[in-house]
Amino acid sequence: MANLTNRESGKPLKIALIGLGKIAVDQHIPALRANPNFEVVAGVSPRSKPEGIEVYESTSELLRARPDIEAVAICTPPQVRRDIAREAIEAGKHVFLEKPPAATLGEAEAIRNLARAKGVSLLASWHSRFAPAVEPARNWIASRRLKHIHIIWKENVRQWHPGQSWIFAPGGMGVFDPGINSLSILTRLIDDPVIVQKADLHMPGNCDAPIQVEMDMLTDSGVSIRADYDFLQENEQTWSILVEAESSEKLALHMGGTRLEIDGKEVMREKEAEYPGLYAHFHRLVSTEKSDADFSPLRIVADAFLLGKRIAAPDYIE
Ligand code: NAP
Repeated sequence: MANLTNRESGKPLKIALIGLGKIAVDQHIPALRANPNFEVVAGVSPRSKPEGIEVYESTSELLRARPDIEAVAICTPPQVRRDIAREAIEAGKHVFLEKPPAATLGEAEAIRNLARAKGVSLLASWHSRFAPAVEPARNWIASRRLKHIHIIWKENVRQWHPGQSWIFAPGGMGVFDPGINSLSILTRLIDDPVIVQKADLHMPGNCDAPIQVEMDMLTDSGVSIRADYDFLQENEQTWSILVEAESSEKLALHMGGTRLEIDGKEVMREKEAEYPGLYAHFHRLVSTEKSDADFSPLRIVADAFLLGKRIAAPDYIE
């Protein structure tokens, strides 16, 4: 069981960040430093050495040198998550997993089982669920019968993921790396299980993950869902989910869930601020000795790989 001393005495939870790349530096560190319930004490990165934080080269080294750490946030690419999570949980640390929780469903389930067995809190985080328009959209949907949902998630991989070769390696998920964010919103908006019916996976000859995907899904109650993912989108970037009710009323989430339109009229436009909410949630979980580990978005991606048709695409050169 993790050490409760600091929480019991109201002191901030000592946390380390494992993986100090783009998302750790841009979002995790600022959100943690603005939250008095946390104290960032160290980080791990095999090669990068960002300033202003004590950096270790491996998780083992961190755990040996800083036994006072109570929690870790794992912000590495998915392929190395399981071993890191296992080491941290075995050492009794609470774990915050960046999305996606792991490279495979089997790994994710193994992490969840180990956390349960060791009595530590686990958050398999989905930052997009904390976008401001998601809960209002869920409430709108709850009182309507739906007809169709269309996900359009199109961004330029060269702009948003420069140098991140892990994205096109096995387990990197390709365009599903951002696309899984839309699926995390979808699985929050509706409670019905989502069944993948068809997926066209466009695979560059020099990559192990798709660069474009068109996918058809269906819920148990008969709502059809279409998703169009594109990693080669130039000019305007699109992260939208369009919902049509049987009554023909329409709801649209744009910009990853920061803007909400009802019947073509904008009713919400907010700044992105997902990580403060995520860390408040993590702190609540630790304080109440609970976990939140929902893998339904990862299951949809796994099903797309199981059922998908591979279509040859031109090599991807960054
Ligand atoms: P990134 O910039 O490539 O950073 C990955 C970091 O992980 C690097 O600092 C790397 O260290 C470190 N790392 C690799 N192997 C490691 C290991 N075995 N132990 C410790 N650290 C290790 O990637 P990112 O954009 O931050 O994305 C990381 C994860 O966050 C991905 O799963 C992604 O889906 C998710 N995410 C990203 C964004 C985004 O906008 N970028 C948004 C939300 C979520 P070195 O540099 O030292 O090699």
